[in-house]
Amino acid sequence: MRTIPTTPDLRNALDNLRKQDKRIGFVPTMGALHEGHRSLVKMSKQQTDVTVVSIFVNPTQFGPNEDFSRYPRTIEADESILIDEEVDFLFLPEVDQIYPAGHSSSIHIGPISSVFEGAIRPGHFDGVAIVVSILFNIVQPNVAFFGQKDAQQLAVIRKLIRDFAFPIDIIASPTIRDENGLALSSRNRYLSENEKNEALAIPTMLFLAKDLLMNGQSPADAKMASTLEFQRLAPNMKLDYLDIVDNETFQPKSSFDNRQNSPSATIIIAARIGATRLIDNLLI
Ligand code: AMP
Repeated sequence: MRTIPTTPDLRNALDNLRKQDKRIGFVPTMGALHEGHRSLVKMSKQQTDVTVVSIFVNPTQFGPNEDFSRYPRTIEADESILIDEEVDFLFLPEVDQIYPAGHSSSIHIGPISSVFEGAIRPGHFDGVAIVVSILFNIVQPNVAFFGQKDAQQLAVIRKLIRDFAFPIDIIASPTIRDENGLALSSRNRYLSENEKNEALAIPTMLFLAKDLLMNGQSPADAKMASTLEFQRLAPNMKLDYLDIVDNETFQPKSSFDNRQNSPSATIIIAARIGATRLIDNLLI
């Protein structure tokens, strides 16, 4: 694996490969890598000729009171995971490679960026949209891989691709969970054992809401029942939202057809325990 910190060096290396008609796969991350990231890398290795992973903790997607400065940075461990997966290039830029002095442009992605995660984290998805656009322009991948774990981010990226006509295929990878069902996240390392146990209420509620919807309950009833059950199971957690939304627009669903073959909705949840905020979702 070659670790490349600058845009011109990465461009040169990839231009040569592109001339040889190599298909380039791209996995953008913020590091603190775990099995969820590894699954995206494995997909890229299987489906493309050259895999580029980026590690960049993007300041523009963190709000002023969020965890940018304490976001875990574990670069040595990350590099050994990526070497183990036989990644070709690690793009490891400093902030000035992505946002050179004087950078001032922004992207407002529209209504989807101001509901749920976007309502609680104002500006978050605009920060995601600008950094992903810049990374897409630097890497110019044929295919980019994103986790279903961040469902609203995935919907934002799909919208970005459509709205700006990026010639890039987006592939979504299923959420990887630990043996108890908790979705893997770089932020899980902040949790104590007790907090981890209580956080299991998150996936439990997703599966409860799914059962209720599959058994014919309306989204409103499924939301109410699983919200009450969440509060009973996890009294120390603060629920930010639990809802059933359209996969593409993230607008709440007023009805759900349980006879459909392909997923038409997403159950979404976000909750805080102590200083840690966790999100999860289930396609139904
Ligand atoms: P992050 O480093 O948190 O920005 O995540 C980088 C990519 O990994 C994003 O596309 C995430 O959706 C994806 N990802 C994070 N956690 C998981 C997980 N548990 N399973 C699958 N993909 C994940």
